[in-house]
Amino acid sequence: MLIIKLIISGRAKDVLEFLVAVTITVNAKCHDCPWSVRCSAGCRVGALAQGNGLDGIDERICTFYESGCYMKLKEIAGKFGIET
Ligand code: SF4
Repeated sequence: MLIIKLIISGRAKDVLEFLVAVTITVNAKCHDCPWSVRCSAGCRVGALAQGNGLDGIDERICTFYESGCYMKLKEIAGKFGIET
């Protein structure tokens, strides 16, 4: 209920930052993940939809980083002078 009250009162950003901090603290995979600073624990709705819970991993985002897609996109962006 507190989370819903905070969202209704316009503090959704605070709620999201709290959920990200909790996820990176309590979820062992996110806690030890080298991408956590960039990924910010993925999408909380995505994690819920995948059945991993509010503090679970977002498997789609894990795949994006772990498969090398992020680094490839970063490399391509760099060729166009775009910083990521
Ligand atoms: S890539 Fe996956 S394991 Fe790593 S921080 Fe993001 S959601 Fe967590």
